[in-house]
Amino acid sequence: METEGDATGDDGTVKGRVIAVDIHVHRITNRWGYVSTTTPERTTTALEAVLPPRYDVEINALLVPFGKHICTGVAPKCFTCPVLDMCQQVGVMSHR
Ligand code: SF4
Repeated sequence: METEGDATGDDGTVKGRVIAVDIHVHRITNRWGYVSTTTPERTTTALEAVLPPRYDVEINALLVPFGKHICTGVAPKCFTCPVLDMCQQVGVMSHR
């Protein structure tokens, strides 16, 4: 899906996108199973293929605090997580 002013490339991706993928966005979207990558840079590319552009800014604003307080790097708080039912918990070996 495009937003006004975006241009679509030959490969179908929207050019000019800026998705701020830090370690939280990378970790969480991979745990969800929404993407499957090994680095934040590859997560950026993978998200460009699946994330609707209208969420390019929102995803970082939402997932940074979510990653700091619920889906933490070590022992995420899955039992209190609001998206537990939708999460594949990829790579989660222990949780709270
Ligand atoms: S269920 Fe667990 S691994 Fe999945 S998003 Fe929630 S806290 Fe993270």
